[in-house]
Amino acid sequence: MQGRIIKGIAGFYYVYVVGSGVYECKAKGIFRKEKKKPLVGDLVEISVLDEAAKEGNLDVILPRKNELIRPASANVDQALVVFAVTKPKPHFHLLDRFLVMMERKDIPVILCFNKQDLAKDEEMQELLEIYQTCGYPVIFASARKEENIDPIRKALKGKTTVIAGPSGVGKSSLINLLSPEAEMETGSISRKIDRGKHTTRHAELLPIDEDSFIMDTPGFSSLYVNDMEKEELKYCFREFAPYEGKCRFNGCDHVHEPDCAVKQAVEEGKIPKMRYQNYTELYQEMKEKKRY
Ligand code: GDP
Ligand code: ZN
Repeated sequence: MQGRIIKGIAGFYYVYVVGSGVYECKAKGIFRKEKKKPLVGDLVEISVLDEAAKEGNLDVILPRKNELIRPASANVDQALVVFAVTKPKPHFHLLDRFLVMMERKDIPVILCFNKQDLAKDEEMQELLEIYQTCGYPVIFASARKEENIDPIRKALKGKTTVIAGPSGVGKSSLINLLSPEAEMETGSISRKIDRGKHTTRHAELLPIDEDSFIMDTPGFSSLYVNDMEKEELKYCFREFAPYEGKCRFNGCDHVHEPDCAVKQAVEEGKIPKMRYQNYTELYQEMKEKKRY
């Protein structure tokens, strides 16, 4: 049978098979055969050892589309980056770090600003002016009032989506709205896992429907941008792209160089000032090789 690893704990892999439920699998022989460790998100082939007890063995890991180190996962299609419009107001530096991480991995981002029920129009307008201008899809929503949840659901349809964002912005509330069925389907497995008293939280895939999954990402707030050279950072700011190659110097990093097309665009209001400011801060950080 073919399925998807939705959770891995202490040598057990929980494999979701559409129509059949979740199997608790060991991965006997997989290292010898595959020379790689199974990851949450892996598409796998299993053989069922005991249908009644829902136990099986994981035999084959199918080829991966991509791999994330943190959270350790495979086959992620996109990221839903969640912040609140207000309470708390977005921490723009952190938000741009999230975006850099995703750009670096070529993972498309959908930006969701939650708590629109508390927001003023000007606050939403400001966010649109920054992030829509840069080319990111932006969805305003309210988990509390259940407003605009359908557009999010639509954006997640057929994909595996990592959910990222700081705490307090409403991620859990959104996830609960998006995956009530998932809770039912994986409930028995969660109980099984809970009995094991594993205190560390692990990355976990929640099936929303047959072909859509979301990944809650505990501890995803510590952000590593440290496997990157500062010269690569500019490529993670997508709004710079139209100006690449138009500066006076080849290989311009758009920081201190004269006659810089990016700086020019910032002055003309074509690139949001906030974004450029965060770019130079991150650049400086990388130059000083600060580690996060
Ligand atoms: P998480 O830490 O990102 O998972 O956020 P939670 O889902 O736990 O929500 C944090 C707090 O914000 C809770 O008190 C929620 O009730 C509240 N909250 C979540 N979504 C909304 C929303 O859309 N509007 C308002 N006003 N409050 C919300
Ligand atoms: Zn430049």
